[in-house]
Amino acid sequence: MPQTTDDDTKLRSRLRTKLAAAAMPLVDFVLPPACAFCKRDLENDDEAVDGIRLCERCRKNFTSDQRSACLKCGMSVGPYVDTKNGCLECSRRHFRFTQVIRLGVYEDNLRTACIRGKSRGAEPLAAALASFLWKRQQDRLQEFSPDVVISVPQYWLHWFTRPHHQAQTMAEVLAERLTIPCDERAVRKVRRTVDQSSLPRSKRLKNLEHAFRTRRGIPLKNKRVLLVDDILTTGTTSNEVTRVLLRAGASSVAVAVIAVVP
Ligand SMILES: [Zn+2]
Ligand SMILES: [Zn+2]
Repeated sequence: MPQTTDDDTKLRSRLRTKLAAAAMPLVDFVLPPACAFCKRDLENDDEAVDGIRLCERCRKNFTSDQRSACLKCGMSVGPYVDTKNGCLECSRRHFRFTQVIRLGVYEDNLRTACIRGKSRGAEPLAAALASFLWKRQQDRLQEFSPDVVISVPQYWLHWFTRPHHQAQTMAEVLAERLTIPCDERAVRKVRRTVDQSSLPRSKRLKNLEHAFRTRRGIPLKNKRVLLVDDILTTGTTSNEVTRVLLRAGASSVAVAVIAVVP
């Protein structure tokens, strides 16, 4: 398959995202704005005055885990635990990214939202989740001070079966909020891999061997990269993409996700 097909498919997907966003004011004119997850009317919702299409109840559900998160891996930890150098879960693992910035934990409604956000036409939900992540974690995202936002890429064949790439929609929203570029061409997935969630932890790294490559000609030297994915399970995928970014000269990589799997 020639490379242009890969790029054309991505371009079409990006255009769809832009068109969906552009059509929203028109939709609002005809129908009152609704929660992107539960479809509840947002017209009298006090929380939704910030323009994020999530109702008060969904926002509470998505962030119901009140425990603090490990600064390094994003997993929930007990009170007063110092996680500057990681928690029990991650202190023995060699993560190349410096931190994980998350919205919540992959359970209940947030788990459903992550799954639904991958489906066809779910750009508004993915965008709302990214905006809510921004609202909750703006300080950490700005403090990291990234130069560019990059999403964990999917293999090009998946653009046919999964035309909406949730992580890319999220990356575009976060880049807009941070007023920095989003470069979806910087990293590509060059071969198909087995779904990581179906593999034991010991086989996940082997599964991703040589799966990601940075694209030549994309300047990454000394760049601080915000790497975006929808879900973080063991961190193996983000760690592998971080490895290729650092090898291409990036100075530091932080990971932003909707949810971490407990
Ligand atoms: Zn809702
Ligand atoms: Zn940790």
